[in-house]
Amino acid sequence: MNAGGVRPRPLRPMGKLLAEDTRRHHRSLILQHLFAEGPASRADLARATGLTRVTVSDLVGGLIGDGLLSELGSPAESKVGKPPTLVGLLADAAHIVALDLSPADRMTGALVNLFGQVKARAEVALDGATGEEAIRLAVGLAEQLRAAAGAPVLGVGVGSPGVVDGRGVILDAHNLRWAGVDLTGILRRKLDLPVYVANDANTAVLAEYAFGGTTAADLMLLRIGIGVGAGLVVGGALVQGHAWAAGEIGHVVVDPEGVRCACGKTGCLETILSAPHLRASDRPLASVGTVLGGVLAPVVAALNLHEVVLAGPPDLLDGELRQALDRCVRDRVMAASSADLVVRLSPLGDDVVLVGAAVLVLSGELGVS
Ligand SMILES: [Zn+2]
Repeated sequence: MNAGGVRPRPLRPMGKLLAEDTRRHHRSLILQHLFAEGPASRADLARATGLTRVTVSDLVGGLIGDGLLSELGSPAESKVGKPPTLVGLLADAAHIVALDLSPADRMTGALVNLFGQVKARAEVALDGATGEEAIRLAVGLAEQLRAAAGAPVLGVGVGSPGVVDGRGVILDAHNLRWAGVDLTGILRRKLDLPVYVANDANTAVLAEYAFGGTTAADLMLLRIGIGVGAGLVVGGALVQGHAWAAGEIGHVVVDPEGVRCACGKTGCLETILSAPHLRASDRPLASVGTVLGGVLAPVVAALNLHEVVLAGPPDLLDGELRQALDRCVRDRVMAASSADLVVRLSPLGDDVVLVGAAVLVLSGELGVS
């Protein structure tokens, strides 16, 4: 068991890992095993990974040299003979600079360790900044956090609003007036570190998958804040969609006679479900939950999802709204589709995007989580 009892789960590799070299792949097999199972001897690692003892010893030596692993001595209950030395992952061997650019009025950041624990925080007020000015604020926040790190920095992970492509280019984030902004390239040049940028709801679902304490491999996370977005993991892999806009259900029209939306359409789901609308509207929360259920039922049925996870203000979501959503989905899909369905709130709270941004880096750099 890892320190703190955190058991991140392997995520099917995305993007960059497809082209990785053999040594890198073997390193990630060892790290994945240690992440999932806790400390192990070199012999255990050889058995678990199918690699030779010589290869494992060489790789473990390299990982100890990199400061990611440490020798932990021998298990107390060893029997006769020379007991094996265990090696384990060090939670604070490296930190990750994680940014959440999704709040309306500020950018938040954190140093996150290898077990997804937030170690330090920083934030910067937006004060209406957009375009180049907002880019400058994001870069400054990342630099500030890197300077505060008490451990080597593994990389920078960013959860951004809007549509983000597979190379981490923000195609469209209208609140920040960003279109075609290569934030990945900009941060990489400024900080000289590996950088991963993804949509905020996509990073949130990765956090839920890796560190949310779930066993589900098929889940949707619905983020409800100033906007509404969703991230999907299906079969243990993030679903990004053919134009990188998977999960953008906030702009599905649910009330054509309703309120004009920032996107230009009328009566989008976001116009009734975003946190500001939930607070301002006199519409009962249960009725919003039922509308949401109508939108999600076909998704649950089509993908046979195991979990629908809500992330947002608990006072709005974790009551009548969630209950009505749960009831409505079950009413509208066949029993087989909803037999094991769980509709719940994320335990990660406001940190869900920051932790997910760290998961991007863990996944991309170490092949774990
Ligand atoms: Zn809209």
